Amino acid sequence: MGNDRIKRREFIGKATLGLCSTGLAIPFLKSNAFTSEQSQKIIYRTLGRTKLRIPVVSFGVMNSDSPDLIKRALDMGINHLDTAYLYLRGNSERVIGEVLQKNGNRDKIYVATKMRFARDREKHFFTTRGTEREPGASEENLFKQLEISLQRLRTDYIDILYLHSCYSPQMVTYEPLMNALVKTKKQGKARFIGVSTHFSEPEVIRAAVDAGVYDVVLTAYNFAQNHRDEVKKAIKYAVSKGVGVVAMKTQGGRSLQEKGEIEINHEAALKWVLEDENVCTTIPGVTTFDQLDQNIRVMNNLALSGTERSEIQFASSLKGKIYCQNCRSCIPTCPNNAEIPNLMRAFMYAKAYGNYVQAGMTAAELPRKKGLYVCRSCSSCTASCPNGINIGSRVKTLIDEKLYLG
Ligand code: SF4
Ligand code: SF4
Repeated sequence: MGNDRIKRREFIGKATLGLCSTGLAIPFLKSNAFTSEQSQKIIYRTLGRTKLRIPVVSFGVMNSDSPDLIKRALDMGINHLDTAYLYLRGNSERVIGEVLQKNGNRDKIYVATKMRFARDREKHFFTTRGTEREPGASEENLFKQLEISLQRLRTDYIDILYLHSCYSPQMVTYEPLMNALVKTKKQGKARFIGVSTHFSEPEVIRAAVDAGVYDVVLTAYNFAQNHRDEVKKAIKYAVSKGVGVVAMKTQGGRSLQEKGEIEINHEAALKWVLEDENVCTTIPGVTTFDQLDQNIRVMNNLALSGTERSEIQFASSLKGKIYCQNCRSCIPTCPNNAEIPNLMRAFMYAKAYGNYVQAGMTAAELPRKKGLYVCRSCSSCTASCPNGINIGSRVKTLIDEKLYLG
C-alpha cells in the first residue's frame, strides 16, 4: 500500500551514467558500485509551493570540497546541492561555484545555502553582538554574507536561502532578519526562503509556517529522536500549508564507532525518513564516491526490508544513546553550565562525519567559559545525560583531538 502511494505520487526518472562525458578524476574510477551499462533510478518529489522537482536523496555538501564528486552527482540526476556560508570555511560554496560555472546549466541545478548570525544560546534568541564567525543579527550583515556567498557560488541568485539553525519560534520571526530575507526574494537574489532547525524542531517548523513568508523548512528528522512523532506532525502541518520540507541529520548519529555504540544502517535510516511522504528530500553529507553510490542506491527501492526495519527498531530502542537530542537537560548537571549539546554536535561532526573542520569550528565558536577550555580544567566530568550519552568520554575525545583550538 505504502509503495503504491509512492509510485502514484512520485515521478521516477532515469539517469544513465555518462562516464565518458564527465571527465572524472581517479577517485571516481575507484567506485565500482555502478557500471556504464547500468541505469540508475532517481525518484523525485515536489518541494511544496516552490514546485522544484528534487530527488528524494540530495547532496549535502557540508563535508566535501571535491568538484569531481559534485559533477558525478549532477550527472546522476542529483540536482539539489545543500551548503552553508560556514561550511568548510567557505570552501563548500567555492567548490559548488566552480562546478556551476563549468557545468553551464545553472537553471537546472538547485542550490541551497544558509546564513548564520550570532545568538544568545541561553535565551534562544539572536543578538546584534557578533563575532567573526557569527556576525551580529542585522539586515546589513545578512546582505554582506549573501554577497560573499553569491561570489563564492559564482551565481547571481540562490535557489533556497535559509536562516541557519533557529532554536526557537522567536528566532524564526525576528523581524530584521525575516524582513531582510523577504527583501532578497523581491530583489531576485533568492528564489525561495526558509529556516533550518535542529532544536525545538516542532515549534520552529510551526512558527515558520505561520510566519507566512517562508517557502521551505530544513529540519533534523530521524528514527533516534525522542520527539520524532512531534516532528512528523509538524512536518505534516507544513506540507498542508504548502511549505516544502527537507530533512537533515537523517542518520540519527550515524556510525560513531565508539565502544558499546552501534553502527547505523545508513540506507535504512534514510528510508525510515523517506517513508514519510511529506518529506521532499534528504541531504546526507557525501565525501566519497562510494557514499554517493550508496545514497543513490536507496532510490532503487524506498521500502524498508524486514531486516532493515528490525535494525532501525533496535537502534531507536537505544533511545538517545547514540544521538544527542539537543534537549539541554545535561547543562544543569555541569558545574560550569557548559554548552554540552554543542560539544556533542562537534563530536558528531568529528566522529560520525569525519569532518574535523566543522567540528573544530563548532567547538571554537563557544564562549571560553562554556566550551572545551572550561572542560580542560575539570579533573573529571560530572555532567550526566538522561538519554545515556557518555558526556565525559565524548568531551575527553574532543580535548584529546585538540578541537578547542578550532
Ligand atoms: S547530551 Fe543528553 S542531556 Fe545533553 S542535550 Fe544531548 S541528549 Fe540532552
Ligand atoms: S568536563 Fe563535564 S563537568 Fe566539566 S565543564 Fe565539561 S561538561 Fe561540565
